[in-house]
Amino acid sequence: MTPEQRQAFEEGLYQFVGRSLHPEPKRSYDTVNGAMIRQWAEVMGDRNPAYTDADWAASSARGHLIAPPAMLYVWNQEGYAVASTGRPGDGLADLVAYFDSHGFTGSLGTNVDQEYFAEAKLGDAIYEDAVIEEISEQKSTARGLGYFLQTLAKFRNQDGELIGTQRFRVFKFIPPEVPAQEKPESATELELPTRIQAPRGQDNAWWWDACDEGRVLIQRCKSCQTLRHPPRPMCGECQSTEWDSIESSLDGEIYSFVEMHYPKFPGYQYPLIVAVISLAEGTRLVANVVGIDSAEVRIGLKVKGRVEQVDEKTMLPQFYPVDAAEVSA
Ligand code: ZN
Repeated sequence: MTPEQRQAFEEGLYQFVGRSLHPEPKRSYDTVNGAMIRQWAEVMGDRNPAYTDADWAASSARGHLIAPPAMLYVWNQEGYAVASTGRPGDGLADLVAYFDSHGFTGSLGTNVDQEYFAEAKLGDAIYEDAVIEEISEQKSTARGLGYFLQTLAKFRNQDGELIGTQRFRVFKFIPPEVPAQEKPESATELELPTRIQAPRGQDNAWWWDACDEGRVLIQRCKSCQTLRHPPRPMCGECQSTEWDSIESSLDGEIYSFVEMHYPKFPGYQYPLIVAVISLAEGTRLVANVVGIDSAEVRIGLKVKGRVEQVDEKTMLPQFYPVDAAEVSA
């Protein structure tokens, strides 16, 4: 881009600041409801009775259930169908298209900040009103050259009362040229670039040290015996700071998973399945599922872990479908 081209581009770009994403406030698809709250609380592991226990809520100071504040952005989401149809166009789509047409095709969500001002209760309709709040000057980052854009969404109930706001920041950038990946036939896994090392601090170094020796440990409270993972200094059940650990059998099943497509990180092999594994001991662990066609990965699949060397410096539990683990064991 010449300085003149950049100036013309930026003149067009900053015209977007202040534009609304929607012609009028977008109403939630459903009113605030118990089913969605219950499912969200279950997935997040949030057992606050103010969200799901109607009897408890009735006897509380409020006298009724409320929605978890962090669900603010949930009510106005289009839902699963947009995966095939795409999102309906809005002011943000126009801005993204403007970036894309000038080569800033990379997108990276960088921050979400929510602020809460009032509670949402069952039956409330949530209206979202969003604007493009700001666009930064051009920045040069490790990702490439680009601009940060920030949207500000305001959420109000049917009485016009402000429930909360959400600021969402995205970096739009020119992605660096990626050379076609060529892998010599003699390449072994150990010739892959080394993955970024997990930081080891006072509270978790012991866990990684055990992993280096081929064992996956689960922290156990010495006072009430509750198991916990990831490692942390205090028991969430009884607040004891005394702990020891047990070794996991690495028997488990897939609780949830994603397949990572983009961006591709050096040192990882694709397809890359990142899963939350429910271990037989009762705790959960984030790990990769390997030795399986990614189309066959599903929630509930029984898996067995083995601690393996994944690059020159890293030992990690890798989880295999139980059938395959039996074959190769
Ligand atoms: Zn405890």
